[in-house]
Amino acid sequence: MDYEVVVGLEVHAQLLTHSKIFCGCSTRFGAPPNTQTCPVCLGMPGVLPVLNRSAVEYLMKTALACHCQIAERCRFARKNYFYPDMPKNYQISQYDEPLAQGGYVEIPTPEGLKRIRLVRIHLEEDVGKSIHGENLDDPRASYVDFNRSGVPLMEIVSEPELSSSEEAKLYLQQLRTVLQYLAVCDGNMEEGSFRCDANVSLRPRGSRELGTKVEIKNLNSFRYVQRALEYEVRRQTRALDTGERLVQETRLWDANRSVTRTMRSKEFAHDYRYFPEPDLVPMTTSPAWIEQMRALLPELPDARMHRFVAEYGIPEYDAGVLTSTKALADYYEECGKRFPKPKVVSNWMMVELLRALNRDGIEVEQSRVTPTHLAELLRLIDDGTISGTLAKTVFDAIYTTGKSAADIVREQGLRQISDEGSLQATIAQILASHPDEVRDYRGGRDKLLGFFVGQVMKATQGKANPQAVNKLLREALAHEGG
Ligand SMILES: [Zn+2]
Repeated sequence: MDYEVVVGLEVHAQLLTHSKIFCGCSTRFGAPPNTQTCPVCLGMPGVLPVLNRSAVEYLMKTALACHCQIAERCRFARKNYFYPDMPKNYQISQYDEPLAQGGYVEIPTPEGLKRIRLVRIHLEEDVGKSIHGENLDDPRASYVDFNRSGVPLMEIVSEPELSSSEEAKLYLQQLRTVLQYLAVCDGNMEEGSFRCDANVSLRPRGSRELGTKVEIKNLNSFRYVQRALEYEVRRQTRALDTGERLVQETRLWDANRSVTRTMRSKEFAHDYRYFPEPDLVPMTTSPAWIEQMRALLPELPDARMHRFVAEYGIPEYDAGVLTSTKALADYYEECGKRFPKPKVVSNWMMVELLRALNRDGIEVEQSRVTPTHLAELLRLIDDGTISGTLAKTVFDAIYTTGKSAADIVREQGLRQISDEGSLQATIAQILASHPDEVRDYRGGRDKLLGFFVGQVMKATQGKANPQAVNKLLREALAHEGG
């Protein structure tokens, strides 16, 4: 049987506000456990939440960037459930009146841009974090850290319109890029500030009815999203083919064993007994406020990509790669300011820099090769101080040591030899020790020039200026033959 994969994603993005959504505690990541808490975010009885205006504005910006409609009026709701990391036994979220609805994100597919519609974007508070089995003295012990409790979260729900794990990954990457450009979320999946749950089901190709839906939780890297979806598609295909009944449930991705496993039977909205949050008044937005937010939108990835093509004359593919993260695009423009030959900068970034970063799995922000370093290296190639061949060696040295190009060239004696006197001496030696080749060249075997160039480069450990070597060799070979 041929099945069609149907995937919808729910992304939880932590907002980069300085304080939490309903109290003034700091949201800084990595502080010692339970040092950023107060009675409000600890869920003490009798406290009152106060809504953080910045959190609302961050969501409004996101909604505008994703072409959503922002509601004139929305309100918060209590989502009731029990979990040790949420002592008040309800999460303040939004239910039937979210702040934003509709909208879309476009992803690049081999068939062109595909539009993935959004259902909604709403605001809610994050809950604390349970830490299990980290105490080696007592692996059964669990701890709860409430620093995360009350950190503003934006939940972005897509329609089930993604049809492969690859599309799911592209959607997440595109969405994360937009949030990073907006500076509303750092998109750090390892630290949990950009997390995703996936709904996945299969249906016979051509059928319109949705199959039994399984939700996968705990997907904290692009790779896990892809692998978990691939696993789940295989599992569901096998079940459908053998007539096994699939149950609607929530499964957990187990990264150690590379499988999804049952976590709990799927809960339904009515299980949460949503009701309007009585401690917060309904919120209203005004067209003026929305326009004020629209005016604050930065240049978004698509616009920046097109500008790179127009302004710097680089191919669309390169521009797409260079604008795929804000950090990479900033790096490119920063380097271009110091070395204003945009195509050269783009080539070096696309080939050398990204190759090294991808090989080591690190982000451009962590690279030891700063835009200043790269610009300096390109200047040294440009003014003939080093040859293009040696430049790669210098690049690798900057990448490993973080030293400047000039320092590396000086320390390792990599300066290009362009001095004609010293090159002529080397050439004379080489011609003297290869009389047969010299005779053949003069007899018409022009191709031997390459052989002589190679010998000179070898003798100078690659430091000779190739243009100078070519010119001097031709002169020398022409002379002596008369
Ligand atoms: Zn607090």
